[in-house]
Amino acid sequence: MRSPLLPVSFACALLLSANVFAQDYPSSSKPITFVLPYAAGGPTDKAARDLAQAMSKAMGGHSIVIDNSAGASGSIGANKVAKASADGYTLLFTHIAQATLPTFFRNLPYNVEKDFEYIGLVSENPMNLIGRPSLPANNMVELVSWINANKGKINIANAGPGSASHLCGMLFQSTIKVDMTSVPYKGTAPAMTDLIGGQVDLMCDQTTTTIPQIEGKKVKSFAVTTPTRLSSPVLKDNPTMQEAGLKDFSVTIWQGLYAPRGTPAPVLKKLNDALKVAVKDPDFIRKQDAGGATVINDARNDPAGHKAFVMAEIAKWAPVIRAAGVYAD
Ligand code: ASP
Repeated sequence: MRSPLLPVSFACALLLSANVFAQDYPSSSKPITFVLPYAAGGPTDKAARDLAQAMSKAMGGHSIVIDNSAGASGSIGANKVAKASADGYTLLFTHIAQATLPTFFRNLPYNVEKDFEYIGLVSENPMNLIGRPSLPANNMVELVSWINANKGKINIANAGPGSASHLCGMLFQSTIKVDMTSVPYKGTAPAMTDLIGGQVDLMCDQTTTTIPQIEGKKVKSFAVTTPTRLSSPVLKDNPTMQEAGLKDFSVTIWQGLYAPRGTPAPVLKKLNDALKVAVKDPDFIRKQDAGGATVINDARNDPAGHKAFVMAEIAKWAPVIRAAGVYAD
């Protein structure tokens, strides 16, 4: 007969080894990697680098490096983390794609609910409709009439189906009832280069990286996606999409940190503690504020609140995406 003690002692041994491992975590010889599923220089990359700096400070200067594993709308990087060792050294930093890709992809190679440990949400970001500098429109009224006069000829850049920019661009097209050609990139940094160069007409992206380009007069800015105007000096004269007549239009992007499933609880606790110190770091708050982003300071900084929020976002966006009938695979 099998001894009932055996599984209990096995579980105790596992717990003990997780605790011993956690005491040592993070080991001074091993950097922590934030896998970032978009190209360097974009808004998600910027947010990840700001967080890495603040969390490193909170962890006594421990090195945190960024791995830009871009492509397939952010699913390549997320899949890499889903399959990585659950040791706390390989983490995923991503945005709303965590909630939109499960619907945009019919065959996503990982499970958002089951393959990750949720560490905490960090920040929220408004978005901003911008255009190439040579566009013959200077405000939303002129833009909408230019779009209507050029149906079938307009293209709009994004970071791939299911990315934040795609979601925003898709809502924009369905609200004004005009189809445009979507041009996907591996992140909005390369898309921004083409927008500035006039190869694409429009993009809707996070304010964190649109603000410097608007300020430098490299792109034209038309509207923000929040229900109320933003206080940023660069964007305060931009109307909201709703003011511009696009009823109910509202998109806010959020960013969070994830570990592979099975990461020991004491390791997750250390990461969550560092994240909670980082979101109160005045330097981190100042940097997010300058980009029009808001640092999250509520129950979503904790694993349970983070996961509940992402599950609610999946349920919120699934019908919108299905109604549009746009899939990434
Ligand atoms: N802003 C991008 C998106 O549309 C991603 C990025 O490059 O940060 O999802």
